[in-house]
Amino acid sequence: MTTLLLLDEAMLEHDPGAGHPERPDRLRAVIQRMSTNPVAGTRTDNPCEGSLEAIARVHPQAYVQRIEDTRGVAVALDPDTRLSEGSVHAARLAAGAAVQAVDAVVRGSASNAFAFVRPPGHHALSDRAMGFCVFNNIAIAAEHARQSHGLQRVLIVDWDVHHGNGTEAIFYGRDDVLLFSTHQFPFYPGTGALRYTGVGAGEGATINVPFSPGATDADLRRSFRELLEPIAAEFKPDIVLVSAGFDGHGHDPLGQFELSAEGFADLCGSVKSIADQHADGRLVLLLEGGYDLEALASSVHACTRVLAGESSPDATTQSTPEGDRAVQQAVARHRERWHL
Ligand SMILES: [Zn+2]
Repeated sequence: MTTLLLLDEAMLEHDPGAGHPERPDRLRAVIQRMSTNPVAGTRTDNPCEGSLEAIARVHPQAYVQRIEDTRGVAVALDPDTRLSEGSVHAARLAAGAAVQAVDAVVRGSASNAFAFVRPPGHHALSDRAMGFCVFNNIAIAAEHARQSHGLQRVLIVDWDVHHGNGTEAIFYGRDDVLLFSTHQFPFYPGTGALRYTGVGAGEGATINVPFSPGATDADLRRSFRELLEPIAAEFKPDIVLVSAGFDGHGHDPLGQFELSAEGFADLCGSVKSIADQHADGRLVLLLEGGYDLEALASSVHACTRVLAGESSPDATTQSTPEGDRAVQQAVARHRERWHL
């Protein structure tokens, strides 16, 4: 059994324009690192465009059609989210990679999967592109797991430095898709405060852990140990999906966390053991942000090595007083619903 890596050079054709941080060079850097330092136990495949049916489980038909109508033309969907001639094809490939990754781990043709996609997805709302994102790839993966494969419970872990507002909004009233998100706060897009925990049946199934700038590997790891791991043990997911953004790296020009490639590998080890314990190993990572090319490539490579079976490093940094407080407050907030 291998780790499936999904990528397609056609996703380089999505070009939001000069000076935009979400640039084709990001994917180029990842492709180059994976080809110069291949990871044993992986195989690479090209995704197909995601079907309109799979995308329409998350996005209304009218929105999907509006995006489809811009195929081959350059247009700005919002001030941050600009499309070039190749963008719709790239966005459909990103959604398709999310679906194919789920197929592979559910059918058992891969032990786990990492899809190197762009545009990213976790800010996309059901009816609106936002924050460099067109289709919400992770939400499409979750709905595909539920509706095409009949899986009951999906755990989404979002360690991008930004809050995954689109993912939260899509599943806010649901108890079958649990979202655990660590992020810088307050920060773009402004959502993700601790008090937002879900609504109705979904009450308690949204877990936001907002951190101050300067959060370290040990801070995030502690939130995984004290919140994510016990909550996952109770929730018992059938599959684990990760919005794997690397803009929390200390060298990232947008985020102000101090994480390292080894720290991301450590987080990856945590989600892998959750998947192994509760979900028959079914684990899919989808690339989100990460805007320093070297930090992105080394973090992706470190996580891929963990997926392929290398043991993850222990966090060596110290937790910070602000980070300790953030974890304590989140534990206090969620203690009523979960055994923490
Ligand atoms: Zn981000």
